[in-house]
Amino acid sequence: MSLLLLGRWAEGEQQAWLQALQAAMPGEQWLLETPRTAAEAATVEAAIVANPPHGSLQGLPNLRLIQSVWAGVDKLLGDPTLPAEVPLARMVDPAMNEAMVHTALWAVLGLHRGFFRLQAQQREALWRPLPQLRAQEWSVLVLGLGELGGRVAMALAAQGYAVSGWSRSPRRLDGVHCCHGEAGLAEAMAGADTLINLLPLTPQTQGFFDAPHLAACKPGAGLVNLARGAHVDEAALLAALDSGQIGHALLDVFAVEPLPPTHRFWSHPRVTVLPHTAAQTDARSAALVVAENLAALRRGAPLQHLVARTRGY
Ligand code: NDP
Repeated sequence: MSLLLLGRWAEGEQQAWLQALQAAMPGEQWLLETPRTAAEAATVEAAIVANPPHGSLQGLPNLRLIQSVWAGVDKLLGDPTLPAEVPLARMVDPAMNEAMVHTALWAVLGLHRGFFRLQAQQREALWRPLPQLRAQEWSVLVLGLGELGGRVAMALAAQGYAVSGWSRSPRRLDGVHCCHGEAGLAEAMAGADTLINLLPLTPQTQGFFDAPHLAACKPGAGLVNLARGAHVDEAALLAALDSGQIGHALLDVFAVEPLPPTHRFWSHPRVTVLPHTAAQTDARSAALVVAENLAALRRGAPLQHLVARTRGY
């Protein structure tokens, strides 16, 4: 049997993944492109994928696991030919979780202490200290309390911030005021100085940050989007930034990536742009996660981090 490693990779990326996976799972047979013959296709036991081209996982009669190496599976689920009966697992990588916490801490510190404003003042040689609020006086709302959002919310609470969180179903997290569903959302949004988006992209969450939701935020609030570009109506966000309704946007993800050079986000004085780098999967730790799931599959144990396809995440 063999393992299929397929994706849309940057140069050298597939080889880096192969090396990490081979180190975690020595002795496996690897296929690095779509099988060419029916006999070759019949050898594929599991597919380890990074958003491969649509249709590339069809015709694999013995496929028993699709393991994404990315945390978000919105693009993968967009493939209408994805075999429906094969379990689909997503990546939950400890190194990526840690990196996301770092990015969120940096973003909230920057907004709370005014460091992004001070950077802008430097460009104009302006010496103007800003008022210093305590962390407990700064409220943060984390939208999505899963692997990433839950960790981010607790890390911020540990720094003393007044943290609320929002999820689909009820959650309990130390030091975090949790709400779920529509109930509590308006109140949480209206009270937050900073909103951090860590929702998965699903039909329910697409376009979440539209004009009505942006208008429901506290005037001057900061928006930190670390999840997916399609969560945000970019025209509505630009209008909210121009009017001051949103005081600063820190954006890691965009409707079109790479962000086109002429996009207004690049030059907007109150936008900070990151190149989809808030938290990258680390092939070294992620390969161990893949190895554990494959071993569980082979011994008939429960698989980790399965995607509920009807939920979309
Ligand atoms: P999880 O699936 O672990 O958590 C998702 C959270 O969102 C859960 O708390 C879930 O609620 C909540 N949620 C889902 N749908 C809704 C809804 N309709 N209303 C309210 N809450 C909802 O995901 P992760 O934390 O692992 O990742 C989140 C996203 O982050 C990924 O999907 C990916 O797009 C993005 N990401 C971005 C990266 C970057 O570098 N920018 C890197 C990695 C991931 P419940 O708890 O009830 O299930």
